[in-house]
Amino acid sequence: MNAATDGATGSGTGAGTGGGAGAAAGGGGGLDTAFVVAWLEEAAGEIARQRDRLTELDAAIGDADHGTNLDRGFSEVLRALRETPPSSPAQALMAAGATLIRRVGGASGPLYGSAFRQMGRTLDSGEAPGASVTPAAFAEAFGAGVTAVERLGKAAAGDKTMIDALAPASRALSQAVRDGLETREALTRAARAAADGARATVPMTARRGRASYLGERSVGHEDPGAASAALIVAALATAASRTAAG
Ligand SMILES: [Mg+2]
Repeated sequence: MNAATDGATGSGTGAGTGGGAGAAAGGGGGLDTAFVVAWLEEAAGEIARQRDRLTELDAAIGDADHGTNLDRGFSEVLRALRETPPSSPAQALMAAGATLIRRVGGASGPLYGSAFRQMGRTLDSGEAPGASVTPAAFAEAFGAGVTAVERLGKAAAGDKTMIDALAPASRALSQAVRDGLETREALTRAARAAADGARATVPMTARRGRASYLGERSVGHEDPGAASAALIVAALATAASRTAAG
């Protein structure tokens, strides 16, 4: 079901963009600009690779544009980061958010865009905004991003939306940071929780978004938003390995 295939730019493959920021993440588990740029690159690469799967999931219970929309949006994010290299994690996240809000059609652009923008704002208003943030500050910002999605989407856990992947990821990340796990392990736990959360949407009945029009007929399909959210969270763990964060 690739009817929606269009001329969307093949995204960057996750390599190369933002190379100027290329230093490894700071020591002591700090998460720096290079880490956030790497996160966005890895997310873009994975969305590009899984574009057709996301679109097929959306074709089953939506309007078959999720993969193409997100691929186009994240390609634009990488372009924006190349054009204006960010000088802080907050700046990178706010730029990504603004780009997704502007460039992605459907609900997912504003939802993901608001999440990234809120993450950036939260980091920016923290005690020591700047070049590197602590895992605790990052986890708090991630939680604020998820809350922004809940508010904008008026969605709660169990509604068969991206929240079903994002909320467990946020809880797992916060818990892992509180438990003092190293950053990479904390992000890996978040990724696992997001993947489990996305899989758990299969038997759910959609209560928000376009899939909710189908009611019971949405049962048996993974939610495309939860699926893409799991990819984006998984990219955190990949980025941590790549930049030696934690
Ligand atoms: Mg759609």
